[in-house]
Amino acid sequence: MIDEMYIRGVEVNYYFVCKTKLWLFSHNVSLEKESDLVKLGKLVHKEFYQRDRKDVQIGPIAIDVIRKGNELEIQEVKKAKSMEKADFFQMAYYLFYLSKLGISAKGRITYPKSKEVVNVELDEEKSRDLEKILREIDGLKRGEMPKPVRKKHCRKCAYFEFCFAG
Ligand code: SF4
Repeated sequence: MIDEMYIRGVEVNYYFVCKTKLWLFSHNVSLEKESDLVKLGKLVHKEFYQRDRKDVQIGPIAIDVIRKGNELEIQEVKKAKSMEKADFFQMAYYLFYLSKLGISAKGRITYPKSKEVVNVELDEEKSRDLEKILREIDGLKRGEMPKPVRKKHCRKCAYFEFCFAG
């Protein structure tokens, strides 16, 4: 198992969303709790999967697992498809993490708003990509805070005031 396996799933997501956000989150600057969008996300999640859900915490990852016959399926519900690549690699990381523990699973990301579903499976190429991404995240977390760069989604980010006040 590689050293970077202490990384949390949401950190893989933030790697694609914003490196500053990743750094702030990983250094426990937790303005996330105050964001209405985060609350909304949790509400969508709760409403959509009230039944048949099983939350599992394994090391740094927290996942919703459903057993389908002999297969395990990890499920994630996301608000919008705007960060699809981030969502995809967050899920791929869960599958990667489980594979290192000898557990095989598939992933399913649901976007209730647009009624879309993305199925995620891990292959060798994605595993290689993830190893590289995890090493980069590890380096980012150990380094200085990346300077905030204004993006389209900054206005919706819980760290907006922190990054751009004044
Ligand atoms: S406000 Fe923008 S730059 Fe700052 S953490 Fe959020 S996404 Fe990154």
